[in-house]
Amino acid sequence: MNLTDTIKDKRLKEVADKVANSIPVDEADAFAMLTTNSILDLGSIAHFIRQKLHGRNVYYGVNMNLNYTNICELRCPLCAFSKDKEEDGGYTLSLMEIEKRVSEAVNAGIDEVHIVGGLNPDLKLDYFEEMLARIKRIKPDIFIVAFTAVEYDYFSKLNNLPLETVFRRLMDAGVNALPGGGAEIFAQDVRNIIAPKKISGKRWLKVMETAHGLGLRTNATMLYNHLEQPRDIVDHLFQIRALQDKTGGFKAFVPLAFHKENTAIKTDRSGTTTGYDDIRIYAASRVVLHNIPHIKALWMYLGEKMAQTMLLFGADEMGATYYNEKVVHAAGAKTPDFGSEGFLKRLIMDAGMTPVRTTAGYGDRTDRDERL
Ligand code: SF4
Repeated sequence: MNLTDTIKDKRLKEVADKVANSIPVDEADAFAMLTTNSILDLGSIAHFIRQKLHGRNVYYGVNMNLNYTNICELRCPLCAFSKDKEEDGGYTLSLMEIEKRVSEAVNAGIDEVHIVGGLNPDLKLDYFEEMLARIKRIKPDIFIVAFTAVEYDYFSKLNNLPLETVFRRLMDAGVNALPGGGAEIFAQDVRNIIAPKKISGKRWLKVMETAHGLGLRTNATMLYNHLEQPRDIVDHLFQIRALQDKTGGFKAFVPLAFHKENTAIKTDRSGTTTGYDDIRIYAASRVVLHNIPHIKALWMYLGEKMAQTMLLFGADEMGATYYNEKVVHAAGAKTPDFGSEGFLKRLIMDAGMTPVRTTAGYGDRTDRDERL
C-alpha cells in the first residue's frame, strides 16, 4: 500500500499525495496540518519522510551546556534566565571557571560544548576568543556550537565590528557551528510582546544567511505555546524553508515548547503544552521543512516521554546530555538537567530505533571549509 492509501483524513490525503510525489507542501497544507485532529494520519506522513531520510537512526549528543552569563541588557519578557547587572543571582563566569567546568566535562567524556548566554556589555570579543581558545586547548577536537544569531548581532554592535569580522574571529578561535536560538517566532506583532528589544525575525534570518555564507552550519528554532497562532507558525516555517532553499545551511530544526514559569508572559495557555499541540507542531515541521535534514525533539523541553513519542511523528534526534542546563530550567522545566548517555540510549531503543551518537557536525569534524 502506498502512503496516500494509508491516510483516512480527506485533507491530509492531499498532503500525503504531495509528499509521496516529492512535491513541497504549501501554506494551506501547513495550516491544515497544524489544526487537524487526525494526528495518527499526520504522524504517518511525517514518519514516512523521517524514515526516508534516516531509516531507524536516532541521533543524540554527549555534551555540556555552558551559559557563561545570565546578565542581559534585553530582559525579554519571555525569559526566566536573565538578570540585571546588580540583581541578586546575576553571574558571569570567569575564564578560569569555564576552563574548570569544561575540563570536568571532558573528563566525563563529552564530545561537544553548547555555549549561549545573555547580552552582557562588559564582555568584549576578546573574552569570547580567549574562552574558545582555552576550550580547544583542553580538547582540540571538541565540537563547539556557540552563540545565537542574537549574540552575534550584539557582538558586532558592541565591538563596532562588521558581522562578518565577528564570525571570522570567532571561527578562528574555535566555533564550529551555531545553535538556532533567538528565532522565537518571526511574526512581529507577537515578537513585540514576548521579546520587544530582540532583533527582528528579518535580522535573525540575515545573520544566519551571513553565517551560512561563511561555511558555518546552524540550527533554527521556533518557540511555541505562548501567544502565537497557527498562521504565525506557518509564516515562521515558510521563512525558514525559503532561506534554506537559498543557502542550504540549516542542519536541524528545533521546535521549543515555551515554559512560562518565572517569565513575564501572560497567556491563558498553561505552563505546559498539550500532546496534540506537540505532535502537530513536530509533524508539520517535518513535512514543511523537507529541505532540512534533522528535526530535533529536545527531551529537556518536551519531557523525555513526549520526546520519545515524537520519534514516530517526524523527529530523528533527541538532543543531548546537556550537563548543567540553566535556561529552560529557570522557566520551570521539570526534567533533570543531565540525562546520562545510557538514559538517552534507553529512550531511543525502547522506541525500537537505533541510537547514533553525534555532534551538531553530524560526524564530520574536518576543517572549516569541509566540515558539516
Ligand atoms: S532571551 Fe536571550 S536576549 Fe532575551 S533576555 Fe533572555 S538571555 Fe537576554
